[in-house]
Amino acid sequence: MQNLTQYADWAYLVGAVLFVLTLRGLSSPISAVIGNRYGMIGMALAVMTTFFVAQNPNVPLILGAMAVGACIGIYRARTVPMTQMPETVAMMHSLVGLAAVLIAVAAVFHPGVTHDMVHRFELFVGCFIGAITFTASVIAWGKLSAKLAARPLKGSWVKPVQAILFVVMLGLGVDYFMTQDVVAFLAMTGVALVFGYFWIAPIGGGDMPVVVSLLNSLSGWAAAGIGFTLNNSMLIIAGSLVGSSGAILSYIMCRAMNRSLLNVLFGGFGTTAGAAADEGAGGEKNYRAGSPDDAAFLMTHADSVVIVPGYGLAQARAQNAVKELAEALKEKGVKVRYAIHPVAGRMPGHMNVLLAEADVSYEDVFEMEAINSDFASTDVVLVIGANDVVNPAAKDNPASPIYGMPILEAYRARTVMVIKRSMATGYAGLDNDLFYLDKTMMIFGDAKKVVEEMVKVVMGGGH
Ligand code: NDP
Repeated sequence: MQNLTQYADWAYLVGAVLFVLTLRGLSSPISAVIGNRYGMIGMALAVMTTFFVAQNPNVPLILGAMAVGACIGIYRARTVPMTQMPETVAMMHSLVGLAAVLIAVAAVFHPGVTHDMVHRFELFVGCFIGAITFTASVIAWGKLSAKLAARPLKGSWVKPVQAILFVVMLGLGVDYFMTQDVVAFLAMTGVALVFGYFWIAPIGGGDMPVVVSLLNSLSGWAAAGIGFTLNNSMLIIAGSLVGSSGAILSYIMCRAMNRSLLNVLFGGFGTTAGAAADEGAGGEKNYRAGSPDDAAFLMTHADSVVIVPGYGLAQARAQNAVKELAEALKEKGVKVRYAIHPVAGRMPGHMNVLLAEADVSYEDVFEMEAINSDFASTDVVLVIGANDVVNPAAKDNPASPIYGMPILEAYRARTVMVIKRSMATGYAGLDNDLFYLDKTMMIFGDAKKVVEEMVKVVMGGGH
């Protein structure tokens, strides 16, 4: 047994290094595939090692649970469409939270085991973070998959209720910590589950990306907390890596939206998705509509085109058609590049993943900071299913809820073309002045169909 534990420490160390290499790999689309493989090997090593060093494991139960989990995972990975990735990620976080709660409850009720104060502290912190992560992730999943309204829960009573639940939750946790009272522990878990709902429900759809990444971080910390309880160094390391990388990602996203984390969590913007844009003042405004043929003709005669993909491109699965369009334009001597906003789509890196799926060369893909200064000298910006990430209100309307959020400055280009199905708003529920500029042409229709039309015209077959 002693020998096995020694080997286990070495195996865990190798696993931890593989997890660090995974994160390193995932930092760029070019190395992401190899990064994923390191993660798979590291996880297999961690699971097998834990299995071998476990004392009196219930082998049939563990193997059965692993087989069921693997089947569900393989099925989900093969069937989930790219557009449903964000809610799938939120759902996976909820399972990590639930696992932390179940492990903590099992440890508290383990027959014949008394926990010292350090263990009780780990159990109470790991359990309430896990419980909050569980319900909050389920609500985030509901909002992202449109099974629940993206509209935030509002009312002057919401913040006091949040505060009371938080204080009661901590009070019960401290009670368990001091007295070992298991009833207080269970009550704390119940209040934490309810708090998770009241924490996320007031946050609107527009802030969901940050919330998902924060939940990712929380699920990591919950796992690390439980790692201390189980005395498992691998779980502590893996949990801390997930916790800190999620926290860093949340910070990067807040910076991309020019918001503080506290403002996102307790200030909030973002309302119902897809509301009609012409409610109120927007109803008076005029816009210019054009056909795919007109737009393709103009692009063929441009020197430079920048394509701005957004959520609608993912929704329409238009990435292959877009690549075809770009290649056809390049053959006509047009310089074509792609501009990516950090929160375009519905998950971090969503657009990069889609473009990579269509084999778009990484050299043609530019992040917001790298391309914003080039828009003024660009002939045509082709906005495909993007809305919030090109909304100039973020720059010039101090009254707008998104004022101060960095955007792709598409409005600076000589001509702007926007492909979408209607004048409806995007995820944050805001009207977009870009659509009403004199230099803007709206091309209405499903992104894939419109772009395929354009390809025909550019290649000379559409007239
Ligand atoms: P938006 O949600 O702002 O706009 C997408 C636009 O695509 C809509 O206005 C819609 O207009 C159009 N659209 C939808 N389906 C189609 C289709 N089949 N063909 C053509 N157009 C279509 O997307 P953006 O990418 O600009 O911005 C992302 C938003 O999502 C931001 O507010 C961000 O904060 C939020 N978000 C981001 C996450 C992330 O991590 N990236 C996660 C969750 C939310 P119409 O209906 O008229 O077609």
